[in-house]
Amino acid sequence: SIVVTGATGHLGRHVVEQLLEKVPAEQITAVVRTPEKAADFAERGVRIAVADYNAPETFDGVFSAGDKVLLISGNEFDKGRVQQHQVVLDAARTAGVALFAYTSAPSSLKAALADDHRATEQAILASGVPYVLLRNGWYHENYTGNLAPVLEHGAVVQAAGEGRVSSASRADYAAAAVAVLTGEGHENKAYELGGDEAWGFADYAAELSKQTGKEITYNAVSAEAYEGILKGAGLPGPLAAVFAGVDASIEKGELEVTTGDLSRLAGRPTTPLAEAITAALKG
Ligand code: NDP
Repeated sequence: SIVVTGATGHLGRHVVEQLLEKVPAEQITAVVRTPEKAADFAERGVRIAVADYNAPETFDGVFSAGDKVLLISGNEFDKGRVQQHQVVLDAARTAGVALFAYTSAPSSLKAALADDHRATEQAILASGVPYVLLRNGWYHENYTGNLAPVLEHGAVVQAAGEGRVSSASRADYAAAAVAVLTGEGHENKAYELGGDEAWGFADYAAELSKQTGKEITYNAVSAEAYEGILKGAGLPGPLAAVFAGVDASIEKGELEVTTGDLSRLAGRPTTPLAEAITAALKG
């Protein structure tokens, strides 16, 4: 079967929904921590497996020989994501899965945030399992999912200078994952995934102005100032530093992806940022 971890997360939900359009529900396994959150999938015939990256024994029996697995990277930055991912990898290798796909980050991204992904990739390569590295670029939703303060202050505040981002919607990245999980010939490949069009934060502010009819400007601040603003908004210090580091990377062009891998795998153009803004403004 096709097994998806993180299935009740934002990306995982898109993956399972898109898989349901392509393969019978009984061929899909959703790995979740909280089965109640997956009740809708279970009702539609998706097999539910309950497991936690922090508890290796919960992965006993989750995978079978020949399975195609998508490990969606975790979001518990304080719990050692590399070790968590290793737990899933070990279980998959022991079971003899046919394919192990992992949601990584673009190879161009040098920010601290990418360290866990690089280490996980190395563990996957060392394991000998047939793999696919889905090096996902940024989500539109990282920005469009947080519009309230932008609209309130009439300002997009970032520390990315004139840097550009090739973002795409989570649904686009899910489509690439589904293509890999349901298609052939992806073994031992690394895909650098990003949206078809890169944009800068001035472009983003201009598009927001256009769609809201309000004046919204890009306020480019220093990394230190940005970190302070994030902490002021209640973000824990280490996380604020991580996000400031990402903006520094954006300024250097590290989140610009020009391979075209994403639209090629999805079989269609990626979602324009303007469309994601429209969807977010509709709420
Ligand atoms: P979400 O935070 O919505 O989903 C994360 C998923 O991981 C959830 O399903 C969560 O389970 C699951 N998870 C976390 N910890 C564990 C654990 N210990 N055991 C089992 N499952 C666990 O993130 P997204 O879906 O938006 O993104 C997917 C991943 O991509 C993120 O986790 C992160 O690694 C990365 N990411 C990428 C971004 C990008 O722009 N490319 C931006 C942000 C994150 P549960 O549903 O139970 O909470």
